[in-house]
Amino acid sequence: MQVMYQSTRGKGEPVTASQAILKGLSEDGGLFVPTSIPSLDVSMEELSQMSYQETAYQVMSRLLTDFTEEELRTCINSAYDKKFDTDVIAPLKEADGAYFLELFHGPTIAFKDMALSILPYLMTTAAKKNNVKNEIVILTATSGDTGKAALAGFADVPGTRIIVFYPKHGVSPIQEKQMVTQKGTNTYVVGITGNFDDAQTAVKKMFNDKEMAAELADAGFQFSSANSINIGRLVPQIVYYVYAYATLVRQGKIQAGQEINVVVPTGNFGNILAAFYAKQMGLPVKKLICASNENKVLFDFFSTGTYNRKRDFILTSSPSMDILISSNLERLIYRITGENPDTCAQLMEALSKGGEYTITPEMKAQLADFYGNFCTEEETKDAIREVYKASDYVIDTHTAVAAGVYKKYVADTKDDVPAVIASTASPYKFTRSVMDAISEGHENLDDFGLADALEKLSGVAVPKAVNDIRTAPVLHDRVVDAEDMPKTVKDILGIK
Ligand SMILES: *Cc1c(COP(=O)(O)O)cnc(C)c1O
Repeated sequence: MQVMYQSTRGKGEPVTASQAILKGLSEDGGLFVPTSIPSLDVSMEELSQMSYQETAYQVMSRLLTDFTEEELRTCINSAYDKKFDTDVIAPLKEADGAYFLELFHGPTIAFKDMALSILPYLMTTAAKKNNVKNEIVILTATSGDTGKAALAGFADVPGTRIIVFYPKHGVSPIQEKQMVTQKGTNTYVVGITGNFDDAQTAVKKMFNDKEMAAELADAGFQFSSANSINIGRLVPQIVYYVYAYATLVRQGKIQAGQEINVVVPTGNFGNILAAFYAKQMGLPVKKLICASNENKVLFDFFSTGTYNRKRDFILTSSPSMDILISSNLERLIYRITGENPDTCAQLMEALSKGGEYTITPEMKAQLADFYGNFCTEEETKDAIREVYKASDYVIDTHTAVAAGVYKKYVADTKDDVPAVIASTASPYKFTRSVMDAISEGHENLDDFGLADALEKLSGVAVPKAVNDIRTAPVLHDRVVDAEDMPKTVKDILGIK
């Protein structure tokens, strides 16, 4: 059955998967959603015997129906290869009473690699299928991890250029160093003086700017997005939830069909939405536990039914979750309106104009699959320490937010079905915060000194991604104001 994609705001005809991947965002400002969510009609017995790549094919072929088997398998095999430092791609580690799904074994040691290592292949395949002759310009706003993963994925990919905007003072030193040392003749990295939301809002505006699109087309370019608003990122993220479940079955930790809980440290709501789609496809997931840091706009939304972004933006030790406008929530809102694009568009307009919206009690009742909570900075630190003490296992700050929230969930509900916690970054990406939680007396070390100290404590070798940037030269040093982003893009593309 052909799965088509339509905008959450309803204007325009449904498009194919490959067209949705090329466009990134719908012209009416909405996000593409599948017109129906197919069920995963493969038995768990079969899935439990499959490799990551085979699982990826089973899941993705159900949703990206206009890709041929050969196209899809080529994309999958090119993405999930030796770039990952383990053959299983996404290993599951049992620690402190939960299963940590390690999604950071790709080239940039954050979970963004899971989707961004395949997106360039999906995108260039989609361009071929649709006879696109323009050069594709990937425009990306990043809170730290997407930027590097997208740069690594698109560097020197023929027919593409990539421009990444990041908040100059809102990412960790390792994150920044990873980006500004990026090689590739088609890569551009720009710091902005605002925060992530400023960057994301400006990027979305450029996508909707018809005049700019025309200028680009004249010069032989068109925009696409590597942010999690692109369906080409969401679909590959469904895979690892299925794979984690199948791994638990294979290891005899659960019976096929038994329910599990899934805990996701959340920012833009992409990762947890993928888990929600996995559940819709038939994966036996009981609760989707949404973990926020002190920017707890989602916790407030799940508790009250009001989404309110009018609050201070807090810089935390989990910067990839420092977000007040969770873009992908729009896809869930669309679903709980009964797939009513007009209601969805009205709510999103209220958010952009007045900074808040409130859903009806009927809509709120449909959020029963979700549980939201948050961790303060102190609780995040405690979570790192507790998991380390209990199991000699070191987790990063983002994963710690999830681990802390999971403990609150169990205390609140006494629900102790097996839980999979999405482990979204290597602790080596946030060494200072991690070391502050589990050790003392390292205040004078720089980030690389800290990495060496962490290696001794954790027994896990410093990843190649960190070693590679120790001495790498800075290749990008542009910093602009958020309002100058469109001008910067035109500069880069040589458009007058
Ligand atoms: C991006 C990111 C998140 C948040 O994921 P969303 O899909 O935006 O909710 C969490 N942790 C890390 C390490 C990330 O890079």
